[in-house]
Amino acid sequence: MAKKKVNDAEFKKLKEKLKNRFIATAHIMWGRELDELTENEIYQTVAATAKQYISENWIKTNKAYMEREEKQIYYFSIEFLMGRLLKSNLINLGLEEAIRDVLGDFKLDLDKVYEEEPDAGLGNGGLGRLAACFIDSMAAHHLPGHGCSIRYQYGLFEQKIINGNQVEIPDNWLKNGFAWEYRKPDKAIDVKFYGNAYMKEMPDGSLKLVHEDPMVVMAVPYDVPVVGYHNSTVNNLRLWNAEVNRDFSDYGYLTQEQIRQKNDYRNFVESITRYLYPDDSTWEGRKMRLIQEYFMTSAGVQSIVRHYVKTGMKIHDLSQKIAIHINDTHPAVAVAELMRILIDEYGLEWSEAWAITKNTIAYTNHTIMPEALETWPVDMFKELLPRVYMIIEEINRRHLEDVRERYPGNDAKVQALSILENGMVHMARLAIVGGHSVNGVAKIHSDILKASTLHDFYEYNPKMFNNKTNGITHRRWLMGANPELAGLIDDTLGSRRWHRYPEQLDLLNDYVNDKPFLAELGKIKHLRKEHLAKYILEHNLIKVNPDSIFDIQVKRIHSYKRQLMNILHIMYQYDLLKNDKGYDMIPTTYIFGGKAAPGYYIAKETIRLINAVAEKVNNDRSIKDKMKIVFIENFGVSIGEIVYPAADVSEQISTASKEASGTGNMKFMMNGAITLGTMDGANVEIREAVGGDHGGDDHCVIFGLRAEEVLSYYMTGSYSAWDEYNSNEMVRFVMNQLIDGTYGDFRSLYDYLIHGNDEFFILKDLSSYAWGHEEIMRRYKNKLGWLTSSAMNIANSGQFSSDRTIDEYANEIWHVKPVRIS
Ligand SMILES: *Cc1c(COP(=O)(O)O)cnc(C)c1O
Repeated sequence: MAKKKVNDAEFKKLKEKLKNRFIATAHIMWGRELDELTENEIYQTVAATAKQYISENWIKTNKAYMEREEKQIYYFSIEFLMGRLLKSNLINLGLEEAIRDVLGDFKLDLDKVYEEEPDAGLGNGGLGRLAACFIDSMAAHHLPGHGCSIRYQYGLFEQKIINGNQVEIPDNWLKNGFAWEYRKPDKAIDVKFYGNAYMKEMPDGSLKLVHEDPMVVMAVPYDVPVVGYHNSTVNNLRLWNAEVNRDFSDYGYLTQEQIRQKNDYRNFVESITRYLYPDDSTWEGRKMRLIQEYFMTSAGVQSIVRHYVKTGMKIHDLSQKIAIHINDTHPAVAVAELMRILIDEYGLEWSEAWAITKNTIAYTNHTIMPEALETWPVDMFKELLPRVYMIIEEINRRHLEDVRERYPGNDAKVQALSILENGMVHMARLAIVGGHSVNGVAKIHSDILKASTLHDFYEYNPKMFNNKTNGITHRRWLMGANPELAGLIDDTLGSRRWHRYPEQLDLLNDYVNDKPFLAELGKIKHLRKEHLAKYILEHNLIKVNPDSIFDIQVKRIHSYKRQLMNILHIMYQYDLLKNDKGYDMIPTTYIFGGKAAPGYYIAKETIRLINAVAEKVNNDRSIKDKMKIVFIENFGVSIGEIVYPAADVSEQISTASKEASGTGNMKFMMNGAITLGTMDGANVEIREAVGGDHGGDDHCVIFGLRAEEVLSYYMTGSYSAWDEYNSNEMVRFVMNQLIDGTYGDFRSLYDYLIHGNDEFFILKDLSSYAWGHEEIMRRYKNKLGWLTSSAMNIANSGQFSSDRTIDEYANEIWHVKPVRIS
């Protein structure tokens, strides 16, 4: 489906210029002719060519931001799961078609060139990917919004499956360099750890902070341009690298002891930004993680204030010109760090510094489970960050004065609202007390925060609570990942306006019963399934049938996400297929993908079980290919771009109340998959969006316990996994198969479910889930009806573009206006 070139003459001119730049760039970079270059050198040349276009706009953008003094947004996140950047940058620059043609002239294939780029896997999963989608959307909407994070030397580990088990390989993503980064040593910042902090009286009677003998780490920024879509905006993603201090290399006249100290110091510093922590929910034995958090936050906030002051604006107006957003609690120490800078370095009074800080900072919560909220031992915190800890104590002292005034004599309230409790620093509480906005990431999640997780804070200050349902960038996840579908939408609507205004996807609602459109839609889905089938054949050596239902669950492996329930159901269905003569099913390919945290035993056992069941089922000739099971290795952003568009069924089966939002669900929906899901996270809003005439489950399949039921079981403690086992034949059957050797020994999972009392209601929801699968097959039999549902999902997915989400943040939290760069 060749896209119409908007204007042939203009396109020719563009292509000519691009071609000249490309050839010249190759010559400058390599001193050789194009046909002598390796594929990786070609990739680097294309990237460098694109950078010429980007840098022109980057310079313009920075100049405009300086001159016009508009409010700037800084989005702090300990993770940015960027994936590859070449394709999205070319799409955003409007150069993809032209460069494809240029490369074609040299018999080079752009899609092959893309493959040369390693994923920037600086994140674990949803939280990091959200940050990446957000900076893409900010740039698209001309918003002056920048990312702040860490330049991890190793990204999330690379996953290999060996004998059915996950094996972790270090992800040395920087080994060939990172084409998009710009090192800025002149903008380095000192970050101080340890030492002694106290107030010293000056001769004039005033108090001055002294921080004695700190360990000083140099934070060097590496800037990555963030390219706006078909506009001239180029924002900045600033990744901090930890390096030894400036005067370090001076080794003259040192004693052995001094040399040893120097080496210890170097080892400490170089370890700070070496690894991304491969667990996104719980943290154990992890001082280095706190060091990372403060390192990135301190460097980020210091550089913001320094830059702000350099522009000549008044420190007193800072909150009118700067919005700092903290993505989950990892950067929550920004509250104390901004106070420190305002008071110690700019000499502001506490009350003014406090007003500025509160008005500057806003916080997004991603966690419902109270036990997963981040806390740090006071002892560790105080030793590592003595001055910051002093400030937190003072923040808390003043805050609790207000609390006591509100709730006289109510010690329980004081405890619940205190930043410091039982020897721990509560980071979410610090973020709430020190900011002006707290938001959840889907309606149901924000409601649960108010009703339970953060209930005391909600009562204390209801006005600061709000919801911002997550979103995904449709540029990467639809236009980039599924160009055929994007082309069909262009042709059907006779317009590309939806590229810029994704809410206009709803114009497709006029075509959801249009047979020629549905036929094309079916062909494209089939094409994407063939692509994935090819990938699976190459990587798993398994032949899957693109005519079967592609039923896909890809996401981090976690108990609450219930991959275990998925595979238990498959075990049950496989047995029906083999032993129940009356049972028939539509051929189905069950596809899994996702990484388990290295120390997460149950998650790893779940992977092992999936692969054990796959091994047996895939080699059973008697079921005549009615069922195949595939575990895709090393799931990440780039593999996701192949996987999401190929799904018929999107598995979104977390225990209701546990998944804050989910964003994978949105990527699937936007590519026309039907959601099989619980009433959890954004599934609730997806259902609402595709509900059909009577607001029912017309174009998705909903099953399982509702959040209220789950929460009520937790409250009353009235659920018994053992009773469930004894009363439900399906449950008993699959549970016994875990320990009777059918697939090997999985007593681990059996014990987890029985002795752990099935904390995520896998056994409880299993029958309802099985019903859901039958319902899916019933609907799939009606080919046209299925395609209509698929089209309904695409047509109503516009609201899940992160462009919508970002507009809400901009208008309701940050109060920033677009800055158009001409
Ligand atoms: C979108 C995405 C996620 C989040 O998926 P959920 O299903 O919402 O958990 C995780 N990892 C990658 C690579 C993604 O692209």
